[in-house]
Amino acid sequence: MKYLKLAEFYEEAGGTTKRLEKIEILSKFLKQLDERDRDVLYLLMGDIYPEYDDRKIGISNQLALKCIAKSTGINEKDVLKEWRNIGDLGKVAEKLVSNKKQSTLRSQVLTTSKVIDNLRRLPRLIGKGTVSKKVSLITELLTSASSLEALYLVRTLIGDLRIGVKESTIRDSISSAFFNREDGASKKIQDAIDKTNDIAAVFDIAGKKKLSGFNKLKLEVGKPIKVMLAGKALTIKDAFVSVGKPCAVEYKYDGFRMLIHKDGEKIMFFTRNLENVSNQFPEIVGYIKKYVKGKSFVLDSEAVGFNKKTKEYRPFQEISQRIRRKYNIEKLQDELPVELTVFDILFYEGKSLLSEPFEKRSALVRKIVQNHPYKIVTSKQIITSDEKKAEAFYKKALGDNQEGAMFKNLSAGYQPGRRVGHMLKIKPESKDLDLVITGGEYGTGKRSGWLSSFILSCRGKKGEFLEVGKMGTGIKEKPTVLPSSVKDAERKEKSTLDTGADISFNELTEKLKPYFLKESGRTVKIKPKIVVSVTYQEIQKSPNYNSGFALRFPRFTALRPDRSANSVSTLEELKKDYDSQKRNWRYG
Ligand code: ATP
Repeated sequence: MKYLKLAEFYEEAGGTTKRLEKIEILSKFLKQLDERDRDVLYLLMGDIYPEYDDRKIGISNQLALKCIAKSTGINEKDVLKEWRNIGDLGKVAEKLVSNKKQSTLRSQVLTTSKVIDNLRRLPRLIGKGTVSKKVSLITELLTSASSLEALYLVRTLIGDLRIGVKESTIRDSISSAFFNREDGASKKIQDAIDKTNDIAAVFDIAGKKKLSGFNKLKLEVGKPIKVMLAGKALTIKDAFVSVGKPCAVEYKYDGFRMLIHKDGEKIMFFTRNLENVSNQFPEIVGYIKKYVKGKSFVLDSEAVGFNKKTKEYRPFQEISQRIRRKYNIEKLQDELPVELTVFDILFYEGKSLLSEPFEKRSALVRKIVQNHPYKIVTSKQIITSDEKKAEAFYKKALGDNQEGAMFKNLSAGYQPGRRVGHMLKIKPESKDLDLVITGGEYGTGKRSGWLSSFILSCRGKKGEFLEVGKMGTGIKEKPTVLPSSVKDAERKEKSTLDTGADISFNELTEKLKPYFLKESGRTVKIKPKIVVSVTYQEIQKSPNYNSGFALRFPRFTALRPDRSANSVSTLEELKKDYDSQKRNWRYG
C-alpha cells in the first residue's frame, strides 16, 4: 500500500475532533486494507510492533532534525530556526520538503512496507556508527517522501502523531467496519486487544467477519497481558455493597505490580506497562523455581521492598529503581531486596483461568505457592461478611506499613486491562495523585537555566490531558554528587532514571528535555510522558486550569517510571476527592 494513502488518512482523521467522525473515517480506511497490510495497524498507533514489544522507534527530536536537514539539503541551524518558529517538527519537514520538491523529482514512491521495514531496523542498531546508520535509514525515507508524507513520517519518528486515534477508536472502528456494530462486538474486540496487546492480530481475525473467531485467542505464556485494575471505595460499607458478601479482603501492598510467566525453564516478569523486566530480578527467578509448584503458569503479584536489617516494609518510591536499572543488579538486589506477594493466577498447566471464579484461582495460588517470608508469600487474606472484621483487618494492614485493603468478589473472573467493580481498593484519605508533567516554566536567579515549576495534568474522559496545577516544591536545588568510584554507565542511569524522592531541578529538567514540544519565552509545553506522584493539601475549583480544578500546594514525592501517561489519575478521581473533601468538612 502506498504510504501516501496512509498519510491522507492521518490528515483526514486528525482534521476532526469528533469521535464518531473519526470512527467513520477509520472504519472506511480499515475496510480497504488487505490482509497483507496488517502492519499498517501498528503505524496507526504510531508503533512498529505490538504494544508489548520492547522494540520502539525511539528517535529524539534532535536526530529527526538532523535527518530533515540531510534530506532537504538545508543546514541544521536553519532547520532549528524553522522549528523554533513553527514549534512542530512534522510541520517543519512538510514545509521544507515542499520547498525542495518544487525543484526536484521524488526518487521513488514510498510504500507502507518500505516505511515499516526501515523503521524496524532502527531499534536493532547498536554500537559504533549507530547514529549515522539511523540517519541514512530515515533520510532514505524522507527523500522519497511528499510533503504530506514527510509530515507524518517525522511525527511517527518522534512519537507524536497528533491524530487523536486511540485504542478505543480502533476498537469501535473495527466493530463498525467488520461487524456492523453488532451487539457485543466492541466488548469482544476489546477483550481480544486486552488479551493479545496486538492490534494487528485482532485485525487478522476481524477481517474474517466472524465474532466467534475471537474465541480462539488464548492467553499465551510469555506474552504479557494487561492487568486487571481496581476501582475505589470510600468506605468499607460501600466496598461490601459493590463486591457482595461474603468477599475476600486482602492487604493492599505498597509495591509494584508484576506478572510472572513460567513456561518450563523459561521465567519472565512483566510490569503493568507490559515492560519485560525479567533480567532485573534474578532472586525472584530462584524463588519461582524453588517455591512454586507447576510447569507453566502466569501469576499476578506485587513486589514489595523491605529493609534487610529491620525487616520493615518500605514504600514503593524507595525501591522503584529496581524496575529500570540494568547495571549492578546484584548490588541493587542486596540493597533493595523485594518480597513477592502472589495474589492471583491466570493460567496453569496449559489452561487459561481467566473465566474461573476468583475463589478458585485464589485457592490454587495458596496450594501451589510455598510461603517463605521475605522471599515469596501469598497475600494476607480473610473471607468474611462481617464489616467489623474487615475493618480490623484493614487497620492491621495499615499497621503493617501497607497501603490499605483490597475487596474482591469471590465469583468474578479476571478481566485484563479493566478497572472493575468486583475488585476495590480502600485506603486512608491520603490526598496523593499520580499526574503527568505537560509544561514548565524556567526559573530565575539561582534557578535560571532549569525549569523551576512544572505544570501537572490529569486525564479527562476522552483521554485528553487537563491541567490541574503547578508544582515547584519537593524538588532539590542541587543534584546528589556521586562518588568518583561510580562507573559512567551507572552514573548516567542514576541521573536520568533514579526515582529520586530527591531529584533536583536540573535533573528533572534534563529528564523532560527530550519531550519538549514548544518553547515560548520562559514557558515550555511538554509532551505527556513523565509521570510523578504528588501530595497536596486540598483541591479547589479554579478557572485558571482547563480541568476546572487546582491543587493547593502540590508537592513532588516521586517519579513514577512504572507508569505511563495514560494511567494517571482521572478528572473523575479528582472530582471524587474534591467531593469527599467537602463531606469531611461538613461532618468535621
Ligand atoms: P494506587 O495508586 O491506589 O496504588 P493504582 O492506580 O496504582 O492504585 P489500582 O489498580 O488502582 O492501582 O490499585 C490496585 C493496585 O494495588 C494493583 O495494581 C496492585 O499493584 C496493588 N495491589 C497491592 N496489593 C494487592 C492485592 N492484594 N490484590 C490486588 N492488587 C494489589
